[in-house]
Amino acid sequence: MLRIHSIDTFGTHDGPGIRLVVFTQGCQFRCVYCHNPDTQDLETSAMKLLSVEQILAILRKGKSYYGADGGLTVSGGEPTLQAAELIELFTACKQHNVHTCLDTCGAIFDQTVQQLYDLTDIVLLDVKHIDPIWHQRLTKASNENVLKNAAYREQTGGAMWLRYVLVPGWTDQEEHLHAWARYFQAYRSVTRVELIPYHELGVYKYRSLGRPYALEGVSPPTLAAITQAATIFRNYLGDKVVVV
Ligand code: SF4
Repeated sequence: MLRIHSIDTFGTHDGPGIRLVVFTQGCQFRCVYCHNPDTQDLETSAMKLLSVEQILAILRKGKSYYGADGGLTVSGGEPTLQAAELIELFTACKQHNVHTCLDTCGAIFDQTVQQLYDLTDIVLLDVKHIDPIWHQRLTKASNENVLKNAAYREQTGGAMWLRYVLVPGWTDQEEHLHAWARYFQAYRSVTRVELIPYHELGVYKYRSLGRPYALEGVSPPTLAAITQAATIFRNYLGDKVVVV
């Protein structure tokens, strides 16, 4: 059984086309800007337990509008915490020609996750900061496994989209933007780079959970700051870079 936080049957932001997006419960990271803090705990009373077969049934029901371009995205939380169950789900998707995306922060690097990557059509990897000290500050965890996962995907040849959230004062340092984009410049697996301006839509969730919000007082980046970051990224990664 998979521990599920929620399901969006008409997702348009997490991979190509229209997708069934399954948000799993549990995450090892504690990102300061997380807009889904209610997905972080490994278990909650509100989560659902769904079998692989139940998720496949939802996919079958929506088959006509997911079409050839869309499919299934598993997001989180952090889906690779449940990699063994997802291997079963993605194997079934392959058998039924359902396109799969895995939206991951790259926290876990082991053979089970590698097997899951091998079954995934597009890995959507968040590389939240290239600098190890800033990554630790931002997520309360190391970026070592994140970069190992990126390298694994590059070596094994599947497609990968990279994602980067632009947060004023946290991830917008010019030298680190250059270093981030330079790091991935030669990656042939990277087919798209999403630059995501920070937003404050998740703040109310912290209030309802009674938790302090680390970015209190931080505003979304200005248009000028977004344009500057996109220009830096495009210097290295060209027109793969999109602001979303
Ligand atoms: S990796 Fe995603 S779900 Fe986990 S804390 Fe960070 S933003 Fe939230």
